[in-house]
Amino acid sequence: MRLKDKTILITAAGQGMGRAAAIACAAEGAKVFATDVNRDALASLDGITGIETRYFDVTDAAATLALAEELPDLDGLFNCAGMVHNGTILDISDADWDLSVSVNITSMVRISRAFIPGMLRRAEITGTASILNMSSMASSIKGFPMRTAYGTTKAAVLGLTKGIAADFVGQGLRCNALCPGTVDTPSLRGRIDAFDDPVQAEKDFAARQPIGRLATVNDMTPTIIHLLSDGSSYVTGQAVLVDGGVTI
Ligand code: NAD
Repeated sequence: MRLKDKTILITAAGQGMGRAAAIACAAEGAKVFATDVNRDALASLDGITGIETRYFDVTDAAATLALAEELPDLDGLFNCAGMVHNGTILDISDADWDLSVSVNITSMVRISRAFIPGMLRRAEITGTASILNMSSMASSIKGFPMRTAYGTTKAAVLGLTKGIAADFVGQGLRCNALCPGTVDTPSLRGRIDAFDDPVQAEKDFAARQPIGRLATVNDMTPTIIHLLSDGSSYVTGQAVLVDGGVTI
């Protein structure tokens, strides 16, 4: 039970990697607050031992402060929420840009700012606390076609991660970023289905992973647990790639 006695907040826990992380963290003994804007998806987590759900829109500044007020001090925070804008820079309207920045980076800044004081209180008692931010291999690490808004905001996540790590390294608070390859989640399915030939599109997504297949959410959960647990107590400020060999 690598997360026994730890209280962890996960954003975008209704589906995909956030959901898998909520279930895996609870199975490792954590008390998990699983949040999302999809009430039906959250309801499907009801009844799982260790998981409590909350409706929470990561772009809502007032709700962020209210949630930090309501919840106990956290040992772990997994900022998982994010969205994909599909297009080159020529396709990015001001509204698209603002939305990508708001969902992918401003939300993480606000949530981190709201919860870090409580995490530092926990770290003072236990010696450790851990933030995990969802970035991507599509960031400052590598460019991909049609992912300029996405990659720019996910690069900003790496800057945020390193800044937090540097500021609090002496106080027991660690901060790392997860950089997945292409993961088979409901939103990826949506992106595949939007192609004229979804069968070929899936083959193309898989082909860009040298390991030969799309990742599953369960390819991510061992690393998520590791980075939230004391097993990674000497790891901070890192962009941890789980990308099927894309960046070899
Ligand atoms: P997903 O995209 O299928 O699900 C995202 C969840 O986020 C949904 O449950 C949705 O309701 C929720 N959500 C959307 N807007 C929200 C908001 N404003 N507040 C709270 N919740 C909100 O899940 P996924 O594909 O696992 O993606 C999760 C994260 O992983 C994202 O940050 C994404 O950018 C990142 N990522 C995904 C991949 C991939 O290939 N799937 C690869 C690298 C990084």
